[in-house]
Amino acid sequence: MTSQDLTRSSGAELAGLLAAGDVSSVEATQAHLDRIAAVDGELHAFLHVNAGALDEARAIDDRRAAGERLHELAGAPVAIKDVLCTIGMPSTSGSRILEGWVPPYDATPVARLKAAGLVALGKTNMDEFAMGSSTEHSAYGPTRNPWDLERIPGGSGGGSAAAVAAFEAPFALGSDTGGSIRQPAAVTGSVGVKPTYGGVSRYGAIALASSLDQVGPVSRTVLDSALIHDVIGGHDPHDSTSLQREWPSFAAAAREGAASGSLAGLKVGVIRELDTDGIAADVAARFHETVALIERAGGEVVEVSMPSVEYAVAAYYLILPAEASSNLARFDSVRFGLRVEQGGTVEDVMAASREAGFGPEVKRRIILGTYALSAGYYDAYYGSAQQVRTLIQRDFDAAFAQADVLVSPSAPTTAFRLGEKIDDPLAMYANDITTIPANLAGIPGMSIPMGLGDDGLPVGLQLLAPHFEDVRLYRAGATIEALLAEQWGGILATKAPALTGGAR
Ligand code: GLN
Repeated sequence: MTSQDLTRSSGAELAGLLAAGDVSSVEATQAHLDRIAAVDGELHAFLHVNAGALDEARAIDDRRAAGERLHELAGAPVAIKDVLCTIGMPSTSGSRILEGWVPPYDATPVARLKAAGLVALGKTNMDEFAMGSSTEHSAYGPTRNPWDLERIPGGSGGGSAAAVAAFEAPFALGSDTGGSIRQPAAVTGSVGVKPTYGGVSRYGAIALASSLDQVGPVSRTVLDSALIHDVIGGHDPHDSTSLQREWPSFAAAAREGAASGSLAGLKVGVIRELDTDGIAADVAARFHETVALIERAGGEVVEVSMPSVEYAVAAYYLILPAEASSNLARFDSVRFGLRVEQGGTVEDVMAASREAGFGPEVKRRIILGTYALSAGYYDAYYGSAQQVRTLIQRDFDAAFAQADVLVSPSAPTTAFRLGEKIDDPLAMYANDITTIPANLAGIPGMSIPMGLGDDGLPVGLQLLAPHFEDVRLYRAGATIEALLAEQWGGILATKAPALTGGAR
């Protein structure tokens, strides 16, 4: 098998080849490292490539040769968003203030991937501290969209999504506070899942907004996301918000869903407030076609109304900066990262370090959050935003009384151009309307590709389920994915090359 074939394989296919002994982990890992070497100069999906990857792969091959029973994904390579702490690899969260910082511990999701024998290829680019929707706020320069190098790959996890879409990795980890897994997946033609809040440990994920953050998978197929979710999920005593419950096998659900071909018995709610003029015409067209396809497959489509969704962006952009301003207080030039040595008091050094270490979007949000939390304003801003959060949760409760899953476009448009929204923070924020409600409610969400827009760029379908019902997303998502594949013939495999380093 050529190394190009290995990078074109899904994670599940690759795992099958590894388990059968047809391919070694060294070969699989080398193929992906070669792909990174060929295309990442143009793409910039990676901030750091793991120099120890081949040694880790060899160790897995040796264990397999010695007859050890390994996890089904053992030896498969994976990319890690730079928001997650990794022993031996810098973890910067896309910020100068953490440049070169190498954590003394692995984030729990990373530790679980390693324990299952997956090989980390490296750390992927992201908006600084996961603040953004385009990866342009990375202190290390933007990532480009492999479908069109002049377009954004989404954000904040544009690096993970671009890496997966460009065949640099079969799967990756992301984090989703307001859409940073789902929106990049949508605009790169990938699959991304935000688990139920508390379903995956946040231990070792550099905090943005603790009540919203969730770690989750990015991949090219629903099954691959399920396989990763099965490994990283479940209770972790290191995270006090981690749920103590037994989760079903998401991979089994995805396999069942793909095999069934039917959505009979599934009530699918279309969210009226996310099916409006605010959605670009080509995205809306793909969405309506997909809803029709869901109906043909036996799904019962109903319209649901969520009147408070209108206020979701406003509430989120108060709650998030409030929590972020508190979380980012730890970057004080004493404990982590950058210290600008100069005369004066501790406060002077701290101020100079934060001035030099944080980028403009991070400063904007720290100032916004500090202001919203300040005495006299707390009730008017943070308090009201929390009330809106409750209203949105009630809207979801009412919607899920009518439907098993909800659907909407994952993002209002296909990938916009680099630079298009960078000087207009409100336009950048408004882009998050489709994804933010799920974070405010803590429910699980998934984005899967549903074809191409008029510009030939990917469009994503968002699926939402009630708390703890991530399994519904995998079952229904895999069915819809299989039905769409008949129509679109595997859109990822057929696109013309945007990358000179090799045909897509
Ligand atoms: N675009 C959102 C924001 O800028 C999403 C962030 C995220 O999910 N990390 O806050």
